Amino acid sequence: MAEDYYKTLGVPRTASIDEIKKAYKKLAKKYHPDLNKSPDATEKFKEINAAASVLGDQKKREAYDRFGSAGEGFAAGGGGFGFSDFGGFAGMGAENVDIDELFERFFGGSSFGGFSFGGANRGRRRQRRGSDLVYELEVSLEEAAGGVPKTVTIPRMEKCHECNGSGAATEDSIRECSECGGSGMMQRTQRIAFGTFTTTSTCSRCKGSGKVITSPCKTCHSRGRVEKVRKIDVKIPAGVDNGHRLRIQGEGEAGEHGTQPGDLYIAVRVSPHRIFERRGSDIYAELPVSFATAATGGEIEVPTLDGKATLKIPPGTQGNTVFRMAGKGIPDLDTGEKGDENIKVTVAVPEKLTKKQHELLREFEKEEKKEGKGLFGRVF
Ligand SMILES: [Zn+2]
Ligand SMILES: [Zn+2]
Repeated sequence: MAEDYYKTLGVPRTASIDEIKKAYKKLAKKYHPDLNKSPDATEKFKEINAAASVLGDQKKREAYDRFGSAGEGFAAGGGGFGFSDFGGFAGMGAENVDIDELFERFFGGSSFGGFSFGGANRGRRRQRRGSDLVYELEVSLEEAAGGVPKTVTIPRMEKCHECNGSGAATEDSIRECSECGGSGMMQRTQRIAFGTFTTTSTCSRCKGSGKVITSPCKTCHSRGRVEKVRKIDVKIPAGVDNGHRLRIQGEGEAGEHGTQPGDLYIAVRVSPHRIFERRGSDIYAELPVSFATAATGGEIEVPTLDGKATLKIPPGTQGNTVFRMAGKGIPDLDTGEKGDENIKVTVAVPEKLTKKQHELLREFEKEEKKEGKGLFGRVF
């Protein structure tokens, strides 16, 4: 369940669909049971396919990115795509294994690449969906660790409510385009020596919509869209890191003439922390302790991402010793498993001493010499 599909395919979270495609192809070729006879190959192949079935599908990938594999809606191995689906390939000779066909099962069908996912509308007219928007959001390390609700304010084009996106003042001012007869396409047939030759192109009058407006909407001037400033609530999941992008479906710009809106992407930036340095799920900090505490042991107060904690310093602690506080780090975005906090203690030498402290330390040194095991006893 705790599988990281990105790791399985060896791609970063920010990978484009093309990078995912490429990675899948390479791995599928390597581990296809017909091509790879090692005992682990089948298991590995299953994992690759499970990962591709989720990451290759924009909707599933979005859910996976936002909620992790433990999220609702799908289980590991996801998308109802089992290994048995490859049954048809079992009898094939190695040289006939068609990775491209496997590939089509995940990525095929819908048009992909870049931001056009309009798989279903390969019809006579191509209607463009609205643009995607990217909002850069900075969060603190504490917010990234605990997750946080945020409200972002974005200006965007929205569907005009006056005309419901049609761009026309009244419904009967939308007419079928006479140029193309409403098909949005123009066919031109030329007679050539051996018969006829037909070319098809988008109608220049209606730009492929098949409709013309005789009386434009006064609010949007026939654009079907108006600019609005919106506040959108976003849930930043615990564990996000620099460069992560959260996709919020349908919150991008409205499409022209009432077509599907684009998506909103929240590009997360985690601001540097004044104490902690983050490496993956683990955090690191340096903390000075007094010479006396390091030598005799004691408890010190340490900062954590959720308040203060107590750290036990054993007697005889040397400078640069690292203490690990398990589970005090940042949760993994996918598994929720928490990393550790690592505190490196440095031994602070006091810059100024009171007369009494000075005497005590001199005394201490004398005692050490008497014992014959001073700090450098082993050296000299
Ligand atoms: Zn037309
Ligand atoms: Zn309008």
